[in-house]
Amino acid sequence: MNYIILGPPGAGKGTQAKKIAVRFSIVHLSTGDMFREAKKSNESISKLLSSGQLVPDEIVVNMVRKRLEKNNIKKGFLLDGFPRNVKQAEELDRILMSENIKIDGILLINVPFEEAVKRIVGRMVCVCGVSYHTLLLPPKESGKCDRCGGALFHRSDDKEDVIRDRFSVYEKQTKPLIEYYKESRLLIYIDGLKSESDVFEQISGCIIGGR
Ligand code: AMP
Repeated sequence: MNYIILGPPGAGKGTQAKKIAVRFSIVHLSTGDMFREAKKSNESISKLLSSGQLVPDEIVVNMVRKRLEKNNIKKGFLLDGFPRNVKQAEELDRILMSENIKIDGILLINVPFEEAVKRIVGRMVCVCGVSYHTLLLPPKESGKCDRCGGALFHRSDDKEDVIRDRFSVYEKQTKPLIEYYKESRLLIYIDGLKSESDVFEQISGCIIGGR
């Protein structure tokens, strides 16, 4: 079972993708997570991430190709954050064809800009991968992760001006993917305005029951 998850910043892609991966025992492939790891030792990637700009296509495509060649994705995967533009989608089609991999569905989570900004501005994350929100989902103890006790921090690209830039990158570069994938009949529209658990149930229902 192989899926792609798409949506604007703040749609809840990462949170949902982690839960789906666990529920359906598939691998969560997040290019954002890979770059957040890479930026620790790579200054130019760090700059691109902090300004909300995209990493060059060749770097992302090579990274994804290597991951899709690995055996551990054979039981299924969920691609989160990739493809991000039409060029990447075309490259992905080529990789899938050469690896003989089929995509079963593309989950498109939609939330309006104002709601996304509200969610992102209050977002706090832990290195263990759990996300919180200062108002909507606070940790039990302020600044501390409920799961591992780690110190919570704001992502460097979660500042209001950077969020605007990330949104404009989404509108210009990523949104055209909806048109690109329309004919494939793989698109599954998810209402991202519902609660986190309702969105999860919507997605799970689509994955189990088909569209
Ligand atoms: P995300 O966690 O998916 O919002 O990604 C965080 C940041 O990583 C983005 O703002 C980009 O700088 C970079 N990134 C993640 N995925 C891609 C991609 N497919 N193409 C280019 N840059 C990406």
